[in-house]
Amino acid sequence: YHIKQYNKGDIIFHGGDRSDCAYIIESGQVEIFVESTGAIIDILSEGELFGEMGVLDQSPRSTSAKAITALTLLEVRTAQITNRLAESDPIVKALVGVLLKRFRSMLPSSNTSNNLLLDQVASVIEQAGLSKFKLESELRTAINQGDVQTVFQPIHDIQDDRIAGFEALSRWSHPTRGFISPVEFIALAEETDLIIEVGDLVFSRAIELLARLPDHVFININVSSKQLDDDQFLNRVLQKIKSHGISPNRLKLEITETMVVDFNLARKWLKKCQDIGFPVCADDFGTGHSGMEQLVELCFDVLKVDQVFIRNMNKSKRHQTILQTIAMMAKQLQTQLVAEGVEVAEQLKTLKDLGFDYGQGYLFGKPMLEADVLQLQF
Ligand code: C2E
Ligand code: CA
Ligand code: CA
Ligand code: CA
Repeated sequence: YHIKQYNKGDIIFHGGDRSDCAYIIESGQVEIFVESTGAIIDILSEGELFGEMGVLDQSPRSTSAKAITALTLLEVRTAQITNRLAESDPIVKALVGVLLKRFRSMLPSSNTSNNLLLDQVASVIEQAGLSKFKLESELRTAINQGDVQTVFQPIHDIQDDRIAGFEALSRWSHPTRGFISPVEFIALAEETDLIIEVGDLVFSRAIELLARLPDHVFININVSSKQLDDDQFLNRVLQKIKSHGISPNRLKLEITETMVVDFNLARKWLKKCQDIGFPVCADDFGTGHSGMEQLVELCFDVLKVDQVFIRNMNKSKRHQTILQTIAMMAKQLQTQLVAEGVEVAEQLKTLKDLGFDYGQGYLFGKPMLEADVLQLQF
């Protein structure tokens, strides 16, 4: 960090100068003004930021800055700002772009070619952000119009060789873009409150289906942290299962390892769910950074071992040893074990030998529509 001192009356930069850094005022006051007319744009004091505009769009200073008292400034380097902006949400970028453009248009224009460049920069960031805005409102419409569907993938009882339950998965069929993967739209929904609506939708459909299936069949549902933080969410689910006369242990809630950043919070989530009677499943087990610690700290009812372990299990002795150890631990902890991404019979045989309870994957069935689930024999 660079600290710079100025005397009263010193010019910090002139309009037209290269924008190589921004400043935070440590003490004193700064006047932002237009040299040609003498118009004062702003007076800033301690704690305020200035000079960031030229840095943001990499164009020369459009105004001048002068110390109107003795002044101490903290220099903020261009990279510190542009790196942050580059990493930020496209919508934030778009908003910054729009604000910059609007603010610049209010200043007396000094250099037209410069404004042209600015317009280009602003429109690139605007497009990136606005297309996301657009997708977000399209998702909202899709939810309301029923274009977000729920499909159900069989979860197979490996030891008894029969269908035990299903995992509910969301699908969005977009009118022009076609099928959009949940990996894309769930992430988008999670950034907004739309995940609450998608979640409520999935729960409603799963519960309606459960009501039409034999009592021993269960459905797993993916939940995200926003839902678990929403106090009303579990109450709504509870209302729905009550009105359909369904036992809560038929709904298993899947929490991914990446959601668990704070064990105290996760413990509260588990307690909330388990107090009602919903079993909780650790999804994508083994892919996060806290797998072992998670097992110690949290009492999951089910462990769902991630597909990468299953895909590679017959490739090396090492992979099998790890799976064997996970299976032993699960047995000791009285946690049920599910293998995800089971695609070939050879994998199934190994999983059966290792004592896995359940398997899910294309070998048993792809995610299917409700109508097709109802055709199955249980
Ligand atoms: P996930 O919870 O790990 O779901 C399993 C994913 O693996 C699904 O992808 C499923 O279609 C796919 N899969 C199942 N069997 C096999 C197999 O044998 N081989 C291979 N290669 N893949 C298999 P999908 O449906 O694309 O979902 C992706 C992720 O999106 C899910 O991962 C889940 O995290 C999330 N997701 C989907 N629907 C919802 C939802 O309604 N709510 C929330 N919060 N997340 C959801
Ligand atoms: Ca899952
Ligand atoms: Ca998974
Ligand atoms: Ca996954």
